[in-house]
Amino acid sequence: MDRPLGLILVWLSLLLLPVSARTVRCEDSIPAPAIQRSSPRLVLDPGHGGADPGAHGRGRAEKDAALAVAEALAKRLEAQGIVVFLTRNRDQDLSKPLRAAFANYREADLYLALHFSGEPRVQARGFEVFVAPPPLPGLDPQRWEAGQARVWQQSRAWAEAVRRRLGEVAPTFDRGEGILPHPALEAVTCPAALVELGSLAWPDEAEWWRSPAGAEALSRALAAAVADVTGWKSP
Ligand SMILES: [Zn+2]
Repeated sequence: MDRPLGLILVWLSLLLLPVSARTVRCEDSIPAPAIQRSSPRLVLDPGHGGADPGAHGRGRAEKDAALAVAEALAKRLEAQGIVVFLTRNRDQDLSKPLRAAFANYREADLYLALHFSGEPRVQARGFEVFVAPPPLPGLDPQRWEAGQARVWQQSRAWAEAVRRRLGEVAPTFDRGEGILPHPALEAVTCPAALVELGSLAWPDEAEWWRSPAGAEALSRALAAAVADVTGWKSP
């Protein structure tokens, strides 16, 4: 990390404040559009980095594949009118709480973590989208605080939109949507999801997302997913 400690502490306090401030009861309503501004803010979080390489497959490290996809994606999404922030733009260590703090500090409307697996099994091919577990145990929405319930429902809507739009362009399998206990997903205060685009052990699939055609298709799919959940329209 080369950021000043003070900034990190500000991030951490920003991370903790909204959680302790939520005390309203569950509204039990359909999730509202996630944003009300003209240009949605998307935080893309390339997984791993630095001493944490993530998965490996065919000589590639997940941290490098995720960063390459995120950078290609950011350029294309910004050209379509979406404001994009990357949690990292180089090979660096970055803890999961700091990734979430970054998204909260940037007042992101949506958060998406980008990952690959290294699974060599044939059954591991395809893409998969995850959200954090429900905010409180017991699966009783009436016991959730309003903010928690709403954001989690919006996270599911965001994950479903990403999955649906990826399914329209991906030359691979839709592995569905999953629940993933994950400190960053749980601490981000806007709708948050994590996508595993494929397995690095299957380069035809994994490399396609990094090709110009794949990056273009991925950016179109994500822009459509952003529009689906926010009501935003590309200019
Ligand atoms: Zn990963």
